[in-house]
Amino acid sequence: MFVRLLTAWVLGLPLLALAQPQPSIDRPFSDADLKAAASLRDRALQGSGAYEVVASLATEIGPRSAGSEGDRAAVAWALNKLTQLGFQNVRAQDVTVPHWARGFAEVAIKEPWPQPLVAAALGGSVGTGEEGIEGDVVQASNIDALKKLSRREVEGRIVYFNTRTERTRDGHGYDQAVRVRLDGASAAAALGAVAVAIRSIGTDSDRLAHTGIMLYAANTPRIPAVALSNPDADMLERQLGSGRPVTLRLKLSARDLPPKRSANVIGEVAGSGADAGAAHEIVLLGAHLDSWDLGTGALDDGAGVAIVIAAARLIRELKPAPKRTVRVVLFANEEFGLSGANAYAAQAGSELARHVIAMEADLGAGPAWRFETRVPGAMLPKTQFIAKALQPLGVERGGNAAEGGSDLNPLRRQGVPVFDVDLDATKYFDYHHTANDTLDKIDAKALDQSVAAYAVAAYLAAVASGDFGRVPASAAEK
Ligand SMILES: [Zn+2]
Repeated sequence: MFVRLLTAWVLGLPLLALAQPQPSIDRPFSDADLKAAASLRDRALQGSGAYEVVASLATEIGPRSAGSEGDRAAVAWALNKLTQLGFQNVRAQDVTVPHWARGFAEVAIKEPWPQPLVAAALGGSVGTGEEGIEGDVVQASNIDALKKLSRREVEGRIVYFNTRTERTRDGHGYDQAVRVRLDGASAAAALGAVAVAIRSIGTDSDRLAHTGIMLYAANTPRIPAVALSNPDADMLERQLGSGRPVTLRLKLSARDLPPKRSANVIGEVAGSGADAGAAHEIVLLGAHLDSWDLGTGALDDGAGVAIVIAAARLIRELKPAPKRTVRVVLFANEEFGLSGANAYAAQAGSELARHVIAMEADLGAGPAWRFETRVPGAMLPKTQFIAKALQPLGVERGGNAAEGGSDLNPLRRQGVPVFDVDLDATKYFDYHHTANDTLDKIDAKALDQSVAAYAVAAYLAAVASGDFGRVPASAAEK
């Protein structure tokens, strides 16, 4: 300090400028910025309003899968809610979404001990036709294990994947297990299988099946695919364990319908930056508006919708508003193919370069426990200030390999730096994509704490001196 003072004196600069430290590269936040962040944190903890938002969405709209009536109603709900809550520049961005209808799923063991099973079609599965499909079951623990079987062992049979989902705080157990849901049907069809059943990708033992998107490869037959509830998967495995041939029967009426119109819903807290440059820079807070059809989408992703709306709303109440614009984007159709995310990135044009940071909430209702970043190495010291502001919430500093949430994939791939406020996913995959995704699973206090973390991180990104650079494409993808 003495050296700086002396230099200033020698250069004849006014000492006043040093008496009130201004943000700089070494000091990216003013004392006022850090104080405002702390006040945001405290106000969120006292009651952020997020629970009321998710209760409204779950109660007034409920299930809202892409292309459904609920999807349309959710877009109207979101436009209304953002307007009511005082957001600026509230608008809908048109998105065309695929429309898949679940229909019914009847699945039963025929031999050796006949029993009906609780099952759900995987999202995107074809139906079986009126006659249904019956076949002997061949079991595999994952796709690699399946590929070790010969065509003769699989052809004409129904492949059953018994992959278990490990319970983890950061959700990596899900990431590891989900591949059988995504690619299992095509891997089985390549060996001549007639249908696929999987153990639900979920950590519960409720008699409810977990749905979720599956994908067909271009060059293999499209075969029906279902998930069994975990207790039914246990039972199927016991019957298989008897050593007797097990026969399964499936009848699904799932089908594709013509695409529909949906929308990303956007609202902003306009930046107050005196120079137009800063006000036109964007800190994006994202969540997805659609849900699966079996539950009410309270956790996935009603909670995320509520977290980002409540966080931005608290930021809006600050005077002055941050210099950058905080933009809430409620993405259309994340679950069934990222339609909204792709449309947003495609239409961003020159605005893409002005996205300073993007964050998404899509891992349940909290609490927040870790802060990860994906920024160029030179920007890491700046993010340490944010990590420090999150510490009183019990949020620890993670690494610099944040993913940003699936709706942010297209932005991240183009170099936009991302933050992850990781929400505790220990129980999330008990309910994920099931009929049990309902409001009672949400704790208002944990939700408020999550809002506090998102609000602090977004606010500090919106006031930081200088941006967070760009993450080169090569480093952006693992
Ligand atoms: Zn989700």
